[in-house]
Amino acid sequence: MAENSTAPPSDFIRDIIDEDMRTGKHQGRVATRFPPEPNGYPHVGHAKSVCLNFGIAAQYGGACNLRMDDTDPTGESMEYVEAVIRDVKWLGFDWEDRLYYASDYYEQLYQYALQLISMGKAFVCDLNADEMREYRGSFTEPGRESPYRERSVAENLDLFARMQAGEFDEGSCVLRAKIDMTSPNITMRDPIMYRIKKESHYRTGDRWCIYPMYDFAHCLSDSIERITHSICTLEFENNRPLYDWFLEALNVEDRPQQIEFARLNLSYTVLSKRRLVELVENGIVNGWDDPRLPTLSGMRRRGYPPEAIRDFCERIGVAKNDSLVDVALLENCIRESLNDKAPRVMAVLRPLRVVIDNYPEGRVEEFDCPYHPKNPEMGSRKAPFSRVLYIEQEDFMENPPKKFHRLAPGREVRLRYGYFIKCVDVVKNPETGAVVELHCTYDPETRSGFAPDGRKVDATIHWVSADHGVPAEVRLHDRLFRVADPLAAASDYMDHLNQESLEILKSCRLEPSLADAAPGSAFQFERMGYFCVDAVDSKADSLVFNRTVTLRDAWARIAEKGQK
Ligand code: ATP
Ligand code: MG
Repeated sequence: MAENSTAPPSDFIRDIIDEDMRTGKHQGRVATRFPPEPNGYPHVGHAKSVCLNFGIAAQYGGACNLRMDDTDPTGESMEYVEAVIRDVKWLGFDWEDRLYYASDYYEQLYQYALQLISMGKAFVCDLNADEMREYRGSFTEPGRESPYRERSVAENLDLFARMQAGEFDEGSCVLRAKIDMTSPNITMRDPIMYRIKKESHYRTGDRWCIYPMYDFAHCLSDSIERITHSICTLEFENNRPLYDWFLEALNVEDRPQQIEFARLNLSYTVLSKRRLVELVENGIVNGWDDPRLPTLSGMRRRGYPPEAIRDFCERIGVAKNDSLVDVALLENCIRESLNDKAPRVMAVLRPLRVVIDNYPEGRVEEFDCPYHPKNPEMGSRKAPFSRVLYIEQEDFMENPPKKFHRLAPGREVRLRYGYFIKCVDVVKNPETGAVVELHCTYDPETRSGFAPDGRKVDATIHWVSADHGVPAEVRLHDRLFRVADPLAAASDYMDHLNQESLEILKSCRLEPSLADAAPGSAFQFERMGYFCVDAVDSKADSLVFNRTVTLRDAWARIAEKGQK
């Protein structure tokens, strides 16, 4: 599990489990489950739940199941099941042979429904959706009992069997639990257990045309799997009495306990599969693994290490009240993880050509460059140096303001791992006036990076030899939304999309050591940020890199500047 964890985390859920262990509830057993509905790709909110459920099971010597909560044929598919399996594995968790599907319990759930009908605790109701709403009452008004509530057991058994036999149209009737139409908790006012859906299910095909509701299916699936602690998000708090009611009514052994925690909300993005489906299906992003998405497949492609995501989940902890977590916290976890382990290399993203007039043509020197200043065990590579180089356009200014310390006409800077160079001439495009090339001289005495006469330079800049550098495309990903909480905004969340969330740089030059970097591998491009080889589009002869994260929080700096 999380390698960087020292003391096990502690929170209100673990307090409950500690107490259960002390009192011997569940005979000292801890069994949890992660129950995604396969109707979208998992996102970082799911990661929070995965880390919690698998983390707790590991901590208490228990087991965590992976269960596809696939009780609604609409929108569920094998593609999503595969995504869940891939992503949970990638996050570093193992369910061994405990991969389950709620759809495998349909027969058993059906039998439970028959039992409730036989006990007089469930009935087939013919009210339509509008009538049902009207009968339900409101927060301030009690509901009214359905006119079909007193049907006999025999009639209910017959009607329910015919619902499943496909005799009735969708929406014409439902199976409801008979609880209490005057309950202050609206969830308890004769909730629906089964509805008719004449849709094929991705696993059960056309075997069923009635499908169980979450509240009925979930508690019983937990019970079938002998789950002890059923951890879910806060929106199910009002459903807990119903969760318990079904278990009680059916008198199951080993009753699982539902515990709710606050779901993760992350700034500048949306964590809801429904919204994510919209972004993907409307082509706002390029598929589920678009690196701008908060999906785990997007994060993987963007170069987020799984241990950094686990670290993030641990740091945010679990609480009982909803909050919006700053995405900067996640990005910091990514930086911290990559800081130690990503080799540092040189790449020029927006190249400016530099000719070193006094460096012999045809001569090539090889500089030995360590991959990491603090981790010598990471080794080093050679960086070729020659007469024509590329430097970053932003490292030169023709008329620099006072604060600019890098290259300018007449000014000297240090090249990373090498010589001092001084700008002696600027070549411009005669039409546009844009700077297209610099002429510099180098000081052969400064090979060590220092001048024998003790003179200093104010800046060290990175570079790539023009003849040796490899071309690459680099994709810069930014936040998908311009506002911190797009769903809270008054207008449609789509109105707040950041139109500049993707910038593609096509003429980048990388030092030659990167020519055969493996797909997915991570690097720090010195001074430019953390990047990884795109695992989908990068090819041996046309490299593509993604920016994983900037070196510092660029948005925080913009905000600071704005305040001044
Ligand atoms: P979504 O709103 O994204 O569709 P969901 O809750 O419907 O989310 P499920 O597939 O049912 O998605 O979720 C599987 C598990 O992950 C559930 O236990 C759910 O509570 C949990 N979960 C989902 N979203 C979050 C989140 N943002 N933070 C923490 N846990 C989450
Ligand atoms: Mg759900």
